[in-house]
Amino acid sequence: MYAKVIVDVWANQLNRPFDYLIPEEFEDIIEVGMRVAVPFGSRTVQGFVMDIVLETTFEGKISPIIKPMDLEPVLTPEMILLGQHMSQTVFAFLISCYQTMLPPMLKSKYEKYFHLKDPEAYPEIYQNYFNGEDTVEDVGQFTNQELAKLLRLRKEGVVSVEHKVIDKAKVKMEDWLIRLQSPMDYQVIQAATPLKATKQKLFLAALEALPKEQSEILKKDFVDQNGFTAADVKTAISKGWVKLEKRPVNRDPYAGREFTQTNALQLNEAQQLVFDEVLHDMRQDIVKTYLLEGVTGSGKTELYLQWIDEVIQKGKSAMMLVPEISLTPQMVNRFKSRFGDRVAVLHSGLSAGEKFDEWRKIKNKEADIVVGARSSIFAPIEDIGIIILDEEHESSYKQEENPRYHARDIAIWRARYHHCPVILGSATPSLESRARAQKSVYQLLELPTRAKDQPLPEVKIIDMKQEYSKNRGTFSLELQEAIKDRLDKKEQTVLLLNRRGYSSFVMCRDCGYVLECPNCDISLTLHMDVHQMKCHYCGFETNIPRRCPKCFENQIRYYGTGTQKVEEELQELFPEARIIRMDVDTTRKKGQHEALLNKFGSNQADILLGTQMIAKGLDFPNVTLVGVINADTSLNIPDFRSFERTFQLLTQVAGRAGRGDLAGEVMIQSFNPENYAIQLAKSHNYREFYAREMQVRHMGNYPPYVFTTMITVSSEEEGLALREAVKIRQYLEQILTGQTILLGPTPKSIARINKRYYFQILIKYKREPQLTRALNELMLQTQQTTANKVTVSIDVEPMSFL
Ligand code: ADP
Ligand code: ZN
Repeated sequence: MYAKVIVDVWANQLNRPFDYLIPEEFEDIIEVGMRVAVPFGSRTVQGFVMDIVLETTFEGKISPIIKPMDLEPVLTPEMILLGQHMSQTVFAFLISCYQTMLPPMLKSKYEKYFHLKDPEAYPEIYQNYFNGEDTVEDVGQFTNQELAKLLRLRKEGVVSVEHKVIDKAKVKMEDWLIRLQSPMDYQVIQAATPLKATKQKLFLAALEALPKEQSEILKKDFVDQNGFTAADVKTAISKGWVKLEKRPVNRDPYAGREFTQTNALQLNEAQQLVFDEVLHDMRQDIVKTYLLEGVTGSGKTELYLQWIDEVIQKGKSAMMLVPEISLTPQMVNRFKSRFGDRVAVLHSGLSAGEKFDEWRKIKNKEADIVVGARSSIFAPIEDIGIIILDEEHESSYKQEENPRYHARDIAIWRARYHHCPVILGSATPSLESRARAQKSVYQLLELPTRAKDQPLPEVKIIDMKQEYSKNRGTFSLELQEAIKDRLDKKEQTVLLLNRRGYSSFVMCRDCGYVLECPNCDISLTLHMDVHQMKCHYCGFETNIPRRCPKCFENQIRYYGTGTQKVEEELQELFPEARIIRMDVDTTRKKGQHEALLNKFGSNQADILLGTQMIAKGLDFPNVTLVGVINADTSLNIPDFRSFERTFQLLTQVAGRAGRGDLAGEVMIQSFNPENYAIQLAKSHNYREFYAREMQVRHMGNYPPYVFTTMITVSSEEEGLALREAVKIRQYLEQILTGQTILLGPTPKSIARINKRYYFQILIKYKREPQLTRALNELMLQTQQTTANKVTVSIDVEPMSFL
């Protein structure tokens, strides 16, 4: 028998399976979907079994599989198909698609060893390179010179190189003691044990004292409670009183947490209509993608919970995706409180071990509801009854590295496979999805009012141009007054500092010099908390200069408003206010995000000041004022989606106000008060925004009127990157139809990042039957010719045009 294996080697001719012989002893063990270790050239690599066949058409020598790496398949037949679909549609290698689907722990590590064949003949090498051993692992300890010498010796046959695949997947185990006798028997044995063997007598007594129905106990507990030692346990085992068993444990990130059980709320009329519509379709076996357009606080999440309940009642499972940033403890709580342990939670805050355990919990069917961020769309859940994407407009659903998939597309593919509905929910749907609903590709569902009919908060726009004549601070007088008022009434305030497209930098006031990254064409960002200048693209760091590096004058000034600076200003205005600042710096450590929110939620603070991360998903009833300090920064990004993103952000953050019984108020400070994104956020008018923005997109020939694909070419040599980009354009011109628009190659707006030069080609098209074939061909060709000097990436429907 032969296995068709996708191997972990990145090169063009390999985007297809290779045939390997299944050794006889593994014939009944190796299955489709398992990981296997296979030889490839002189190396050993990991691969995935795609198929098992009786005969091979391959003419050359066929190597046998070295060993299976799993006891059961890690990829289901569905996942194998999905990988093929992904590879074809996002132009990524099969191997990277499959690896993306699995938890990082299942991605193997490779180790390289040097082996000295005859140590006695080379005593100097033996001592200096091998530290007196036959074999040494290459962990990067050798200098290039030393490495060259070792490789020369390899050519001479003195040294050999071995590669090993190291499986990182580790299940955590626990020791259990199993009682082998009845309490009565222990009594008898105890009586027969000599008096001076006190420890043994005590051990037997402890075993006898265990409740009759308890036939096993965690070794650690038993030993700790009774003060026994490891030696005592050993004796007991050797005497046949107990038996030791190793059992897998799950690292549960929510262990020891109490969740109060909640029950379904009585749906209001609008909710009920929407709820029934989907249910009705389900009963008729009609499968659709729905766009649930519901204002903030309209009870979308309550509907999600009730649909999921319906589905699991029928013995099926459910998937709930939320953007990473709104996977807040509040959100998780709502699911855990309704469904308890049946919920598996996957997000980036988990350790690799926790992720692996949640994944296994799903695979072993111990959980039938998955709540998670983007990559949890690949959870190995079977028999799916519903897939929900909350905040469907969020750009974080698109992966910005290979494979560049969109979770929405994967959701729709999986839903077709399982014959189940997809719900896309948002208060501000992406224009793409809303346009699809317009054309009935998706079914539109609407919740126009808040769940308990609370009014949407009053939004006021404060013109900062006018304010500037009387007050140059960050806070307008009106916003200051409003904050003061909430402090007096013991109500809470949320303040948003819009950091999108915005950073703090240093400039010399004399010569105008701005400190830039030496590796990238971008200015360095000031981080006051650690007193460093950092590059957000390559990670370069340097001290804040005292003098201008160019004109040597002592005129360095800081520009821009950091959250920390705003916090100081706020505290000065309101010395008595208790302020929580939430940004990347205060939430870096695990658990900090949650701790700060809990503190705010339990009224231990008056003001929550933060960046985008506070705009979503928070539901605090005592918040009656939301202030947006700078609405404009995100308007000025040169990207056709910048108005859409600004509108979404303002609507989201405004939705945090007045969610309880108290009415809410929102104040937006802006230098462009007449801009329609800001005006329509003020009136909570998504419909009008959609209509206006669609006109703009139509005129500019932008999505959703056209599809886009971006090809990016980069190299350390500027000329090489440009020449390759021109070649790609010429290639595409030959193949694609006349209606398709090709723009570029042009340098990217940050032309150089981490010492590499970037050029982009944008393809705009309505219908282009040749495109998939052309881009697949391009993917294969570019990997072949360039030997890493030039990198080409293909991004279907890019989220950023910068
Ligand atoms: P969304 O997800 O649209 O922002 P939520 O589901 O979070 O809305 O609902 C907003 C608030 O209204 C929550 O506090 C929720 O418990 C409450 N709520 C939702 N539906 C109902 C209902 N049918 N009856 C009473 N309260 C409801
Ligand atoms: Zn840089």
